[in-house]
Order: sequence, then C-alpha cells, then structure tokens
Amino acid sequence: MAGIYIHIPFCKQACHYCDFHFSTSLRHKAPMVAAIAQEIALQQHYLAGQSINTIYFGGGTPSLLSQAELEVLFEALHRHFNIAPSAEITLEANPDDLTPAKLRELAASPVNRLSIGIQSFQEEHLRRMNRAHNAAEAYYSVQYAQDAGFTNITTDLIYGIPAPTHNLWLDDLTKLFSLQVQHVSCYALTIEEKTALGRWTKKGSFKPSEDEFVAEQFEILVAQMQGQGFTQYEISNFCRPGYESKHNSNYWRGVHYLGLGPSAHSFNGYSRQYNVANNAKYLAALTQGQLAFEQETLTLVDQANEYLLTSLRTIWGCDLHNMQQQFGINLQAQQAEYLAELLRKEYILIKNDVLYLTDKGKLLADQITLDLFLEPQAI
Ligand code: SF4
Repeated sequence: MAGIYIHIPFCKQACHYCDFHFSTSLRHKAPMVAAIAQEIALQQHYLAGQSINTIYFGGGTPSLLSQAELEVLFEALHRHFNIAPSAEITLEANPDDLTPAKLRELAASPVNRLSIGIQSFQEEHLRRMNRAHNAAEAYYSVQYAQDAGFTNITTDLIYGIPAPTHNLWLDDLTKLFSLQVQHVSCYALTIEEKTALGRWTKKGSFKPSEDEFVAEQFEILVAQMQGQGFTQYEISNFCRPGYESKHNSNYWRGVHYLGLGPSAHSFNGYSRQYNVANNAKYLAALTQGQLAFEQETLTLVDQANEYLLTSLRTIWGCDLHNMQQQFGINLQAQQAEYLAELLRKEYILIKNDVLYLTDKGKLLADQITLDLFLEPQAI
C-alpha cells in the first residue's frame, strides 16, 4: 500500500499568503504534463511494486488541467503502477474553475474526491488574500460539485484573518455547514516571509492578527465542528465518520509515497527526495530523460522525530511501544521530566502506551513537538 502525489505547478494568480511552488504563466502547461508523464515512467520502481491506494493531485491548481491533460497522466499512471480499484483519487480545485461543465468532465474521470479551495466565504477576505474566486463562486462550486455526483468533498478554510470580531468566522462556519460536505481542512493564516503579506507585514502596512485572536478562532472551530458531528482526526482536519483523507492519513502513518512534478517530495521509509522547485529546470531535465531531485537519507532519529511530529497531531496519537520497537527509543525514559510537566499541565495524556495531546495541548502542538524532538545522538 502506497501513495502518489502529483504537483501541478500553475495558478491563475498568486494568493498574497502563499509560498507554495507555482507559476502564473500557463505557457508550459502542456509540456509540463508530458514531463510529469515521463517522470511517472522513470520512477515506476520507486515504490517497489506496492499497490497504490491513494493518488493526490495538488499544487498549484490541478483544476487548471484540461480533460485531455488529466487523461495523459492517468494513462501513464495505469501503465506503470498497480492502482488499486478502490483507490482514493483526490484533485484540488479552485472554485472559479468549477463550472458545471468542468465538473461533469471531472465526475466522468477517475477522480473520486474533490478538495475545493474555498478559504473564505467573505468577499473582503477573498480580495485581501487575492483569491481568484468570489464569495458566490466559493459557495456554488460546492453545490455544483454535489450536483455533478461528487459524494466525497473536502473544503479548505483559513481562520485568523484580521477582523474586528469573530462574526465573519462564525458566518464562514455557518455557510460551510449548510453545504453538508464530508471533510474540512482549516489552517490559520500564516505570514510567510517571501509572500506579499510577508513583505507588507515587514513594512508595517499589514498587521497580522494577535495570537490570542487566532487561538480563539481555533477554539470556536473545534467546538462548532464537534457540535456538527465532525471528528477532529488531525489538528487541522475534520471529517464525517468514514471520510478521513486516506492520502493524508497515510502520510501521518509513515506509508511510502512518490511525489511527481516540480517541488514534489517522495518518501520510501529510509530516504526523502525533493524534486527541483523550478519549472524550467524540471522541464529541461525531464526532456532529456533525467530526474531532477535531491536526496536525504533519514537516520533513525530523523525517522523517530517525523513519527512524533505527525502522529502527535492525530487522533491515533504517538504509540510509545512503536517508538521502542521501530526506533529503539524509550520516550518516557528519555523525556521523563518534560512529559511529567506536560501531564501536570494537562497538555497530554498517556493511555495504553499511547501519547495524545489534549484539546489544551493541541493549541501548543508545534512547541510541544519541538521540545520532544530527540537529539541526533539519542540512539
Ligand atoms: S491557488 Fe493555491 S497554490 Fe495557487 S497561489 Fe493560491 S493558495 Fe497558492
């Protein structure tokens, strides 16, 4: 069992908060698809013949692919990999691309899960973030997707956008719940240095929300999601029963995956590969039949830290017995004092040899994980 991620590095315009890899020139979209198909062939042995149970088209904006371009990629995937008939196949889409006609095409393709980048239902927030869609498109794209037959839809929302009160956030959640989607991912607005918001923050022309305001919106989110019957199976991810993202859950459980396209990452248990995050360099290499990536070999401590980082964020928690068996690490012995402090403050709980973050602890997840990280000489 393994996964495939395909990065489509094109967007219509640059959102002011985004530091993902993409180009706003679509000129090389067709050669890029051909190059990714070539990479699929060259990387056919990376997952050592494992059956593929998830495929994820991310980006960038995969909904910019035409039906013919998607077919080229599916044809290459089926030719070189053993795709399970029940595979979860997700495509990220922006609301402005999701016309009823486009959705009929997608519904007729192997894609069986749509991830719609709504981010906000508020016109002023969408403009401030330079999203390509408006508030009506955000709402109706989900309904059009449902009309086209999609029964597994996830939407992305951003919280912590500066506002005088929490009213707009509450309104976003109300609109979201009225759409009856199966899965929701919510992320705090983060200010990355190399983005428009990063530059404006540095100059003082943009003022990010206070941490307390962001934390309050997260608490509102968790409470409202619980009230609507969603399970928070990862800090930022909520689902109706049975609708966890299989692809992301596999990442968090350490399942191997192959990343294709510029800037995509791959993981095979003992090493990580990073494709070049440059469309021109990627195209030049693949045109000559070469792969363009850097590789990092993971030590046992790296692997243990990754397991800590991902598992602690999930509802399944960090299995301390597994830490011992797989990596030879007795976390309770090595971090005895710090774990005792976290227990005392009710940030964590340990049950049946599994370490979980409490709701209070989830607010400090990044700091707690960082503090628990093992030093290189830990094993
Ligand atoms: S559409 Fe997505 S990937 Fe493209 S700039 Fe906006 S947030 Fe980034």
